[in-house]
Amino acid sequence: MTAFVKRSGVAILGIYVADLAFRASHMPGVGQTIAGSGFAMGPGGKGSNQAVAAARAGARVSFISTIGRDPFADNALALWAGEGIVPRVQQVADQPTGAAFIYINHSNGENAIIVVPGAASLICAADVEAAADAIAGACVFVTQLEQPAAAARRGLEIARAAGTITVFNPAPAVEFDSAFYPLCDYITPNEHEAALLTGLPVTTLEQARRAGDVFLARGVGCALITLGAQGALLHSASESVLIAPFSVGPVVETAGAGDAFTGGFATALAEGASPRDAARFASAVAAISVTRAGTAPSMPARAEIDALLR
Ligand code: ATP
Repeated sequence: MTAFVKRSGVAILGIYVADLAFRASHMPGVGQTIAGSGFAMGPGGKGSNQAVAAARAGARVSFISTIGRDPFADNALALWAGEGIVPRVQQVADQPTGAAFIYINHSNGENAIIVVPGAASLICAADVEAAADAIAGACVFVTQLEQPAAAARRGLEIARAAGTITVFNPAPAVEFDSAFYPLCDYITPNEHEAALLTGLPVTTLEQARRAGDVFLARGVGCALITLGAQGALLHSASESVLIAPFSVGPVVETAGAGDAFTGGFATALAEGASPRDAARFASAVAAISVTRAGTAPSMPARAEIDALLR
């Protein structure tokens, strides 16, 4: 008799960073100190943002990561507790929790960013194996590339072996081993990442289709290429459709739209939605998020998503 595995929710491997945003008229030169015009601190890190998006969208979420033992770590733990996210998190004393310095030009919004993953740069394959029960017990596993690639790959391997659906968000745009591709039921690059990974221009829908074909040829089950305000292309052997963007209201901040999309997509897949319906759900999550400031704080609640989809 085949053993019946009771799965639920989404397991996400990724990093948390404290986003420290400084607004000023210009970037100071070397040796220079200038007065800024504003400061804000908020939760960041693609994996943590995706976990918040999925939890608010209604998924039971476990988040696998490593943080330090410092005030930023306390902030991270408080964030996840407040969102109902189950942390499968190691804490280390000799490395800081990740942090990002974000300079924002207060006249034109241009930014410059330094990210230090800190303790999260230590995440290794053995750490992911220690959380194998969370991955195997989930309906969907999600990871990105802000932590070491070897850890992401191990997570995908564990999920694949357990029959958990795999969603790989290849961000930030860095090269990785081609052995990743056959481990991906879904890959969710934005247009820049899709262009870098395929070596093709990806600006139009037709170009995205050609990039999607490259991902399929490399062994991916389905490519979901996000195209900003144009929407997203869902491209597999059986269908190739534009998932139209929703227009909810004035766009306030698009940073984090990709995380909203991936977190929403994973949530709907975990509920048994078809790829097309899950992508439409993801599009609704992302559309609401861009009408609000911040990344994790901009993620919508399930009732708001359902109201938009009705
Ligand atoms: P980021 O790196 O800023 O988090 P991204 O580049 O990974 O974002 P995008 O391709 O910009 O991700 O956007 C992801 C999805 O968000 C899009 O496929 C679309 O569904 C939605 N989206 C983005 N911008 C808008 C917009 N202006 N209006 C409605 N939906 C949007």
